[in-house]
Amino acid sequence: MRRVLPDLSDLQTPCYIVDEQALADNVQCLAGVASDTGCKILLAQKAFSMFAVYPLLRQYLHGTTASGLYEARLGHEYFGGETHVFSPAYQDREFDEILAVSDHLVFNSFAQWRHFKDRAMEAGRSCGMRVNPQRPTQKSSLYDPCTQNSRLGVPRSAFEPDACEGLSGLHFHCLCEQNTDALAIALAAFEEQFGSFLDQMSWVNFGGGHHVTRSDYDIDHLKQMIEDFSHRHSVTVYLEPGEAVALDAGYLISTVIDIVGVGTDLPIAILDTSATCHMPDVLEVPYQPRLTGAGVAGEKKITVRLGGPTCLAGDIIGDYSFNVMPKIGDRMVFHDMAIYTMVKNNTFNGMRLPDIVLWKADNTMQIVKQFGYEDFKNRLS
Ligand SMILES: *Cc1c(COP(=O)(O)O)cnc(C)c1O
Repeated sequence: MRRVLPDLSDLQTPCYIVDEQALADNVQCLAGVASDTGCKILLAQKAFSMFAVYPLLRQYLHGTTASGLYEARLGHEYFGGETHVFSPAYQDREFDEILAVSDHLVFNSFAQWRHFKDRAMEAGRSCGMRVNPQRPTQKSSLYDPCTQNSRLGVPRSAFEPDACEGLSGLHFHCLCEQNTDALAIALAAFEEQFGSFLDQMSWVNFGGGHHVTRSDYDIDHLKQMIEDFSHRHSVTVYLEPGEAVALDAGYLISTVIDIVGVGTDLPIAILDTSATCHMPDVLEVPYQPRLTGAGVAGEKKITVRLGGPTCLAGDIIGDYSFNVMPKIGDRMVFHDMAIYTMVKNNTFNGMRLPDIVLWKADNTMQIVKQFGYEDFKNRLS
């Protein structure tokens, strides 16, 4: 159960509010999995990189994982613990810097491994190979790395057992917002194809996409799979969830600035927050975020479309229904807005980026960062 937001009328909108208590609940849940099984759990910064809360998260997690140099550097500088990196392709010009800030490096091909092996081994880094069991478990191919012709991970047919010397781990990442039934399928496929190489390895990374902190997640089943696997193969298991760390731990608060189409079949409220700029996954996935006090279209008395202030015709957050017609100045509170929001937002149309506010465990609101014209301008020339 999440606590109830206090009065927000003092806050400028748009702003993201991140709930420190919810984050603590999530990482405590993850820490329980780690301590009961001996696995190690890393924050996938790709989903959530609010480094202001890294001092809290690092009390419970073993480190971070990064998709490349800048995330690795952020994890190294602000989180500490272990810094893992996986990149679909490392670049020569970045590699020394990556070595300087990381402990574990995961490669995406044997060509890359051969190219960088000497430098990585000389620096004493623990190196692994991402493999691809090619057993899809998802409906949408946008988030399923296990589809045919995926560029992510080495399939068994391209795996080079003779080139494994120096590798100490294998990595697979197959899931997105999934439960243990999908992990069981991916893990069985991984083990069937790559299990015979594990006696040379000291760790196996099960990737992310484990929705561990969702209320219906089967934590006991996860624990059992990790324990059985790590005993069977004498390896340390890593999980690197992003979503699960900050799941349902944040809000995006917005204000109604105008209402158009009054008297038509579909009135439209224009908000000061944009789908395409501030919650791009709403359009990319796509999905419709939960909104406090509102139902889906047609459920309550009045159905209203909520749109953003950009000139993109499709900048629509969704159609929602209300018992009372929203009016100018009303606050709109969108849920589950900590993950894949701040890390993906942009200033298209010169939109202001939402403030970042931390709702502390003591119920006070701390404005962590505010953005302005300079943030828009500094990415252009
Ligand atoms: C995206 C990703 C993660 C995190 O995924 P979540 O769905 O946010 O848990 C972890 N590892 C890799 C390699 C990823 O690409």
